[in-house]
Amino acid sequence: MKITSAEFVTSAAGLDKCPATSRPEVALAGRSNVGKSSLLNILVNRKRLARTSNTPGRTQLINFFAINDSFHLVDLPGYGFAKVPAHVKARWGKMVEGYLAGREQLCGVILLVDVRHKPTADDRQMYDWLKHYQIPTAVVATKADKLGRGRAMQNLQVVRKALPLAGADPLLLFSAVTRQGRDEVWSIIEEWIK
Ligand code: GDP
Repeated sequence: MKITSAEFVTSAAGLDKCPATSRPEVALAGRSNVGKSSLLNILVNRKRLARTSNTPGRTQLINFFAINDSFHLVDLPGYGFAKVPAHVKARWGKMVEGYLAGREQLCGVILLVDVRHKPTADDRQMYDWLKHYQIPTAVVATKADKLGRGRAMQNLQVVRKALPLAGADPLLLFSAVTRQGRDEVWSIIEEWIK
């Protein structure tokens, strides 16, 4: 994919606040700190389009980015941050599930997991929602540079079993440091939005 433009559009606190366009959308989901902003920045070759931050739970809105004036990449608020109070978690659930269930132009979701760790209960719930709403899903195991290749491949099998991954869903390694996996992620997105 040749990137000609990548712009922040808006942040939305719920489905009713999402931009009223029919542009196709692909969303990124995952735990806080898993590397969603980094993946987004690598995809569009920008250092700081999506803010990368070490303050988990800070970005609690749905963020829309317009790519090439033709489709949206959507950064869903991260989950799984222990210090977030219960009412914030409940609001998060309503916002994200509302978006997944109701956003008609949503073509697919990239679910990010950390390649070093077994998927958490939150990761499994997110994957269950995606399957429940029959949304095309790819699982991207991030931070692959932090493990040797053999170990990373082994851990992919741990991820596959723990979700458990549906047969046809792609599962791949990604690194924002080496850019491993970038082309594969784009191929998946291009297929979804076509
Ligand atoms: P987000 O909260 O999911 O948006 O996560 P960020 O993109 O802000 O990343 C959280 C932290 O992980 C930051 O310190 C990033 O530099 C780091 N990080 C993200 N992706 C990678 C990766 O592929 N490899 C390594 N080594 N670090 C990463």
